[in-house]
Amino acid sequence: MKQIIIAIDGHSSSGKSTMAKDLAKEIGYIYIDTGAMYRAVTLYALQHGFFAGDKVDEDALRHALPDIHISFQLNKQTGRPDTYLNGTNVEREIRGMEVSDKVSSVAALPFIRRAMVAQQQEMGKAKGIVMDGRDIGTTVFPDAELKLFITASPEVRARRRLDELKAKGETATYEEVLENVKKRDYLDSTREESPLRKADDAVVLDNSDMTISEQKAWLLEVVRQRLQEVQ
Ligand code: C5P
Repeated sequence: MKQIIIAIDGHSSSGKSTMAKDLAKEIGYIYIDTGAMYRAVTLYALQHGFFAGDKVDEDALRHALPDIHISFQLNKQTGRPDTYLNGTNVEREIRGMEVSDKVSSVAALPFIRRAMVAQQQEMGKAKGIVMDGRDIGTTVFPDAELKLFITASPEVRARRRLDELKAKGETATYEEVLENVKKRDYLDSTREESPLRKADDAVVLDNSDMTISEQKAWLLEVVRQRLQEVQ
């Protein structure tokens, strides 16, 4: 069967990563979480003291870029890939509030985007990939055979993110998380370099009122149809 590229874009905490991971597992494709790559760069910048408040030292980061190596390895327990930064598993650290708060400013830097996009395009060369992010259908793989754009209301997304953080034992309030969700929406959609935008040919899903299993069934049907069309 011919393999394709499935590009999944959308807002923060829209559940697109969960959908993408489950889909990849179900159809035996490789899953790449591009948000994790921007998060890992942000963690590196934090660990090396490159931030003064919200402002990152761009020269220091540009200089350090050749020393930042990001990879993914399958976690046998969860069945999902974990993110590694220079050989260390950082899956947990990159999901915390500190990184979430700073990642959009790092992801807006053109030299960071160029480096990440080049790596992502390399990863998709052999197809058979599900990639999620903000600019996959518009910039990374404008010719992807299937493009999806996932969204939900900011309030629903903040509630989901808060539940996730709580499950991991992190403390945050609903108001803080809602503010972070809105701030990232704003920064992601207004930045100059590859802003978050729905590709013209993307299929849109607003999952505010859907359960995970409803989304899964919807997605599998869309993928099944597309796979049939491209054979
Ligand atoms: O998907 P996730 O919320 O983990 O992504 C974290 C941040 O990384 C986003 O808020 C966005 O600023 C940035 N990002 C991006 N382009 C991508 C994926 C993520 O700018 N392809």
